[in-house]
Amino acid sequence: MSILRLILGDQLSNTISSLVDVDKAKDLVFMCEVMQEAKYVKHHKKKIVFLFSAMRHFALSLKKLGLRVCYIKIDDPANTGSFDTELKRVVVEYKISKIIVTFPGEYRILAKIRSWEDLLKVKVEIKEDTRFLCSIDEFKIWTSNKKQLRMEYFYRLIRKKYQILINNNEPEGGSWNYDAENRKVPASNVFIPRPYTCKIDEITKEVIKIVDQNFPSHFGDLEPFHFAVTRDDALKVLDYFINNNLTKFGDYQDAMIENEPWMFHSHISLYLNCGLLEPIECIRIAESSYYQKKAPLNNVEGFIRQIMGWREYVRGIYWLKMPEYYEENFLNAKRKLPKFYWTSDTSMNCLKQCIKTTKENAYAHHIQRLMVLGNFALLASIDPKEVNEWFLVVYADAYEWVELPNVSGMILFADGGLLASKPYAAGGSYINKMSNYCKNCHYDVNQKHGVKACPFNYLYWNFLIVNKEKISNNPRIRMIYKTLEKMDEIKKEMIMSDAAKFLDSIDN
Ligand SMILES: Cc1cc2nc3c(=O)[nH]c(=O)nc-3n(C[C@H](O)[C@H](O)[C@H](O)COP(=O)(O)OP(=O)(O)OC[C@H]3O[C@@H](n4cnc5c(N)ncnc54)[C@H](O)[C@@H]3O)c2cc1C
Ligand code: SF4
Repeated sequence: MSILRLILGDQLSNTISSLVDVDKAKDLVFMCEVMQEAKYVKHHKKKIVFLFSAMRHFALSLKKLGLRVCYIKIDDPANTGSFDTELKRVVVEYKISKIIVTFPGEYRILAKIRSWEDLLKVKVEIKEDTRFLCSIDEFKIWTSNKKQLRMEYFYRLIRKKYQILINNNEPEGGSWNYDAENRKVPASNVFIPRPYTCKIDEITKEVIKIVDQNFPSHFGDLEPFHFAVTRDDALKVLDYFINNNLTKFGDYQDAMIENEPWMFHSHISLYLNCGLLEPIECIRIAESSYYQKKAPLNNVEGFIRQIMGWREYVRGIYWLKMPEYYEENFLNAKRKLPKFYWTSDTSMNCLKQCIKTTKENAYAHHIQRLMVLGNFALLASIDPKEVNEWFLVVYADAYEWVELPNVSGMILFADGGLLASKPYAAGGSYINKMSNYCKNCHYDVNQKHGVKACPFNYLYWNFLIVNKEKISNNPRIRMIYKTLEKMDEIKKEMIMSDAAKFLDSIDN
């Protein structure tokens, strides 16, 4: 009788808790490419290639370390296509007495794992995922005596816990947050380094072929493929970011430039989320580049806050509120997702650009997701379930624990303000200020009404009018409602009529 150590697709870390006390001689490491998982939503083709290739490379690296690994490929004729049935096979074949697995990233998978003791008649031990900086219980304790949950206070707590950018118990430089310095408008002549690209090997080539043959109807371009699929290459991506982009990361964090989808961002979320990189190592490398005077504090702190603050915070919210969180729809948004989210066939240039590059790269940076794609979904009142599915499908870094709170909480205000202190709604002027998209747009960002007016402009005011009862007493947007109150009725009617015509056109 032996122990089976199950490694899920987002647990590709040598430090994963399910392998900590592995007995190389007796235990069996089990990994499986599961059709059910690859198809339960129609993931971007690049995302499937990335994960299957990274899994295959990780399995090989474990074998090199001397572990016994049973790896089932997606095209293995014996592969039955689901976790339950594949585990059943292996439990019988290898006379398994116990399964050890690290806590998964999705509620759906946790429920599945919890059913295995009954289904497979073996003991199942679920170990904590120690790669995160804050455990689920620790987060729950932090929330227990709070009326309002705010990321900023949580972030300070975790920074103190790990003593990151802390000097004599005070934040380095005297301030916890340098966001005020991080909203530079994109300069037209700023040099943006090309993203780091990795060479593909025979394993990745084989996976590309398989995905091409088996997932033809899935969204997204398969090639060119240049993501890292090994830890060594993921470390090179991180290193490239630290040496080339970090010095401007914060400055241009919110900037968007046409045909520059990567900007000064790190492009590491997909590696962090599947385990090729660990949060604490990324944080410490960034911190040391500040102390070595290689990068300014506002940029370093901004980057660290995203990983130490936002990433941990959204995970805490997910496990605190699931499964109810998935059903939240505070603003009662019901519209179907417009087709152009899949085709990029729209005259709104900002949306067209963000969707086009998402299709090409399985990547968009935060402000594109938040203030263009997300902002439009909020203003157009699109059903949270439809928006969540889209965001889960299209990005290589998307897993429900991180995608759902960002979509339902941060962009759609579907949780009524648990995660975000106000709806992130904005008109065209924000997009015009932070990007050059409006220059090449069919619409005029300066017009407020009529067929040429930027749809974000009237949709913004329409959103405030329609949702007045639910959000007008939010202190952070009270001033905007004061402006709305002063607006004359004819103007309001024009806004609502333009919005109705536009929304009707996207419904059809
Ligand atoms: C609507 C929406 C959906 C999103 N869906 C996902 C998702 O499915 N998976 C995902 O990893 N991130 C998601 N994010 C957060 C963020 O947009 C991405 O992490 C980031 O764009 C990834 O690019 P990067 O690695 O270049 O990040 P950088 O801008 O370089 O930031 C560094 C790291 O900080 C972390 N981070 C930054 N912001 C967030 C955040 N809001 N939540 C969690 N982590 C954060 C990421 O790990 C990221 O790699 C979403 C944001 C929005 C607004
Ligand atoms: S004018 Fe409006 S729709 Fe066009 S790019 Fe600018 S913000 Fe987007």
